[in-house]
Amino acid sequence: MNIPKTHPRYKSLLMREKLVEALDKGILAKAGLIAHGRGECFDYLLGEKTTKYALKSIKVAAAMLVLAENPIISVNGNTVALALDEVVELAKELNGKIEINLFYRTKEREKAIFNEFLKKYREDINSGKLKIFGVKDVNYQIPNLDSLRGKVSKDFYEADVVLVPLEDGDRTEALVKMGKKVISIDLNPLSRTARYSTVTIVDELTRALPLLIKYVREFKNRDKDYLEELIKTYNNKDNLKDILKYISKRLESIEL
Ligand code: ATP
Ligand code: MG
Repeated sequence: MNIPKTHPRYKSLLMREKLVEALDKGILAKAGLIAHGRGECFDYLLGEKTTKYALKSIKVAAAMLVLAENPIISVNGNTVALALDEVVELAKELNGKIEINLFYRTKEREKAIFNEFLKKYREDINSGKLKIFGVKDVNYQIPNLDSLRGKVSKDFYEADVVLVPLEDGDRTEALVKMGKKVISIDLNPLSRTARYSTVTIVDELTRALPLLIKYVREFKNRDKDYLEELIKTYNNKDNLKDILKYISKRLESIEL
């Protein structure tokens, strides 16, 4: 479909288009479309922009990723459909590790997603700059998680900080119980993912990732004390409460 740039909802339509294409290519599960729709609704409530509260959590997340010994980014179909390049860019600023983890896991989807990385980033993969896990190497099991999403690679299992954009609540809870620091990106401040995560970035994925990349780059040059202080003074539950207040005030004052 050719969406005119002048359309008032151009960005949103473009994202939908990308998801439909990803569905046709076998990257996205049908339920991924529904998940996106639920996110869109929350984005309306937030005013479709990065709030100062989201920015605060982005900075804390960046600090955590920079200080991590062994971070990894977990991706699903929606993330690959909307932000493949940004995820790769961020991974390359860190240790290059990305894990494919699918809620609706099939061999075909795994392969389709792996091929998306291979098509664009073959050189980085061959040179070892980029390492894609979660396909043939899922020999480890996250405790207390029965679904197929509990199967992970050794690298994911051993990671200390995990960035899980668009995660599911059950898995977030299980990962936190394992002692991992879990950073999620989720437009819904009320989801179980949002409430269980160590740091929840309540923002749209494609808005949040470029900012996260920017701060990771910047924080690599900051001293450890500064980054540790940022993390120490942050409280995720308070941040979520601030966001709920922000939404409710915004709705009360809206002019129709
Ligand atoms: P939980 O499992 O955490 O309790 P849920 O079951 O309601 O939450 P899921 O179906 O697991 O939600 O995930 C969908 C969620 O992903 C949406 O509610 C939305 O907040 C989030 N989401 C979807 N697309 C995006 C996006 N592009 N950017 C940020 N968040 C998104
Ligand atoms: Mg869920």
